Amino acid sequence: MYYKIIFTNKVKNVNLKVDYKGEILVKAPLKTDPELINFFILKHKKWIENRLKAAQKYQKYNFTDGERLPFLDTCLSLNKKNQCAYTLELHSKHREKRKKQVINFYKEQLKKYINEQLFLFCSKHNLKYKSFSITSAKKRYGSCSWDKRLFFTWRLAMAPTFVVNYVIAHELAHTKYMNHSKEFWALVAKIYPKYKESINWLKENYAMLYLD
Ligand SMILES: [Zn+2]
Repeated sequence: MYYKIIFTNKVKNVNLKVDYKGEILVKAPLKTDPELINFFILKHKKWIENRLKAAQKYQKYNFTDGERLPFLDTCLSLNKKNQCAYTLELHSKHREKRKKQVINFYKEQLKKYINEQLFLFCSKHNLKYKSFSITSAKKRYGSCSWDKRLFFTWRLAMAPTFVVNYVIAHELAHTKYMNHSKEFWALVAKIYPKYKESINWLKENYAMLYLD
């Protein structure tokens, strides 16, 4: 197992991260005994292996004609009709511009989808929120502010709808409980009973939600 260690006075304890590309990064306080770091890695071996397995789901896209990208319960094909429910016409030749157009498509479509779901969940369970918007957050799928504004990352457009529905239910439940208490989870379950499957999907597949 290959990993990178950074010795820094910015951390108090050894900590460990495995990113969506499978890079393992260890941060340790200055002068930490290397034996201790080895021990730490061994102790978390199982966790690291699970994260590495999830990172294998990461895909690098080139945004070339005919390429297919995940999109909710279907896929998005670029410029050529390619068995996907959606085809996006890209005009630029530059990779960055093409990628940006894909992200804009995700943002627009996800906004429509979430708007509909919020309406359904709110009317059924008598819930209220102030507004919602789509962000480019990399580390969180959604959030809820103290004044009930909801935020969702466009990356969710690359996840199946049963996962998006869970994140919507999660943030909506925060309009009642600003914590992760028992009552909070009971409300999530009421809004979206299948939520445990969605959480598992995210654990195993979160690396699919990154576009570089
Ligand atoms: Zn939460």
